[in-house]
Amino acid sequence: TSFFSSAPRIPKDAIFALTAQYKSDTSPVKVNLGQGAYRDNAALPWILPSVAEARERISNHKLDHEYLPILGLPEFRQAACKLAIGPTKFGSVASRIASCQSLSGTGGLHLAGSLIKACSSLKPQVWIPEPTWSNHHLVFSSLGFECRSFQYYDFERKRIDMNAYKKMLQNAEPHSIVILHACAHNPTGCDPTKDQWQEIGRIMKERQLFPLLDAAYLGFNSGSIDDDAYAIRYFINDLGMEASVSMSFAKNMGLYGERVGCTFVVTQNAEIAENTESVMERLQRSEVSNPPAYGAKIASMILNDAKLTEMWYADLITMCSRIREMRHALYNLLVENGAPGDWTHVTSQSGMFSFLGLPRDIVIKLKEQYHIYMAENSRISLAGLNTSNVAYVAKAISECIR
Ligand code: PMP
Repeated sequence: TSFFSSAPRIPKDAIFALTAQYKSDTSPVKVNLGQGAYRDNAALPWILPSVAEARERISNHKLDHEYLPILGLPEFRQAACKLAIGPTKFGSVASRIASCQSLSGTGGLHLAGSLIKACSSLKPQVWIPEPTWSNHHLVFSSLGFECRSFQYYDFERKRIDMNAYKKMLQNAEPHSIVILHACAHNPTGCDPTKDQWQEIGRIMKERQLFPLLDAAYLGFNSGSIDDDAYAIRYFINDLGMEASVSMSFAKNMGLYGERVGCTFVVTQNAEIAENTESVMERLQRSEVSNPPAYGAKIASMILNDAKLTEMWYADLITMCSRIREMRHALYNLLVENGAPGDWTHVTSQSGMFSFLGLPRDIVIKLKEQYHIYMAENSRISLAGLNTSNVAYVAKAISECIR
């Protein structure tokens, strides 16, 4: 008998399955608004000029293929933490940080969860916003955490449901973990304002809840690292809380497939940090042994060289500006086409996504009749729009819902 005879049949991940469907569609008008990967105005993947320059320098340097240390490239980890904490406060926090290079954002969240499991006897519950990125529940439930959902989005008013949010924070068991999208909430594109972050942070501190920040879009949301790191810095620098941050360089450097990430926790003192880092190293050894080198070398070169950092900031602006233009174009064209309803949420949301609020049958109709692919919950990746297809998409949506 097979060792695997009781393997269940798990359905494919919805968003990756959608990409496969899109790829096999032969229609010349097809549009992929599913997966969140940046595309240029010609619908092609974009290699950031800062990344191209870093690649050039690395290959000139005789790139080798040696192992990285278990914790990853030291200068990359240091620069990534500094980027998140901010240059002015980094010096006063650095000794309390435990950090480890991770397999992009996903591996980083998994590492953060494993670390808490390994270090805490409390068996905390994990609170996850609803809706959220489709992988959050999977990552934390696969680690054995009890995952609970709280209502994050008011679907009717198309904004954050602060009452439900605060109610959860007031009632969660002390020492629970709260998953926070540091910026560019996926899928809603709806982030707390600074005032709302302060409210959330103060309650969390008072109630001893642990912020686990998912930072997959730093700089990619607004074009400014400082603006996008507001929540991270508020929790760590202003409130002085212990927190965990899982950074991904997939989107903001376009290094999707290279799996470049850094997860760090800020602890109460240097001794705890050192111990914690030793646990991270042990966890990493058993699961990854050595993280991938190439992407980390690229990211490190960009973050540690003033000229390349400037180039990267300009690249962030390029990507954000194009996405923002598509947001406004889509809105204007929906209105011009007389699409029934209020579409102001399309322009008030931010980040790479727009959460359209279409019913599922319309989403299916758009795919089957118009070859327009989007997530079932009607989240669209604005990066899939460009000056050649946005009018078609707006017209199709308007026709479908009329
Ligand atoms: N968190 C969120 C909210 C995301 O949207 C993503 C990317 N889709 C990730 C984490 C992690 O992505 P990656 O593992 O590719 O860095």
